[in-house]
Amino acid sequence: MPAAQPEVLFPHLPRFAGLVERWTARGTPGTAPATPGAILICEHASNALPVDWPELGGDLGISAQTRASHAAWDIGALGVARGLAPEIATACGGAVLVHAPLSRLVYDLNRAPDHPGAMPETSEIHPIPGNRNLTDAQKLARIVAVRQPFHTTLSDVVMETVALGRRPVLIAVHSFTPVYMGQARAVEFGVLSDDDDALAFAILRAAEGCGLECAYNEPYSAKGDVAHTTRMHAGPLRLRNTMLEIRNDLITGADQQEEMAARLAPVLIEALDACDLTNRQR
Ligand SMILES: [Zn+2]
Repeated sequence: MPAAQPEVLFPHLPRFAGLVERWTARGTPGTAPATPGAILICEHASNALPVDWPELGGDLGISAQTRASHAAWDIGALGVARGLAPEIATACGGAVLVHAPLSRLVYDLNRAPDHPGAMPETSEIHPIPGNRNLTDAQKLARIVAVRQPFHTTLSDVVMETVALGRRPVLIAVHSFTPVYMGQARAVEFGVLSDDDDALAFAILRAAEGCGLECAYNEPYSAKGDVAHTTRMHAGPLRLRNTMLEIRNDLITGADQQEEMAARLAPVLIEALDACDLTNRQR
């Protein structure tokens, strides 16, 4: 009897898998070892829209201003993650970065499919016309074409590493707007955790004196809905994990991103070392 073929939903639609970059244990870009000690994640790395795919929302009917704003992506987060990765790779024996190919307004990869913020009709003060009154079929198309491929990429990287005997740390890199709903935010560097707070607290300890206004579970708490990715990929395997939130006015330009990465890399490495997550003990 031939093997049963799984049903393929929306076969005509493309799949927007996670984008993968790797660093060797020497911190150079290239083929990471099969067992990288750190997996960095950037779910809000991009403000690209599926303009050729109206079935997936096309340009969402949003203004250029909305597309450039924090509503569409985490400004500066990818640049900081790329700056951190080689340093962390050197300390941890290789690193992988998995980042999003599309804007979170198409599908927010850090939200569960039934979360109202997954395909929001409004994001803060920005209306998202292309997300209004989505049918079940339209929502499912985005989940199949955008959400699932990203999380499959990430899951594959995590599972392959674990299968080969390494328990990688998962670090999600985000940025946040300095003013939200008219409220100014004083915190500059937030370290978030859900039920596993060991690494987050180690980072906060290591960050003392780094010159940034630091806070735990701010500007929002990972005890709420914002830890979807780390919960899903680190939680079941009990992998150490944290989410970093950097205020985006500090990392708007490439120079600032590089500077922030240089400032935070030693902080993170000290904390990873304190949690026995570097290669120092190996
Ligand atoms: Zn984010």
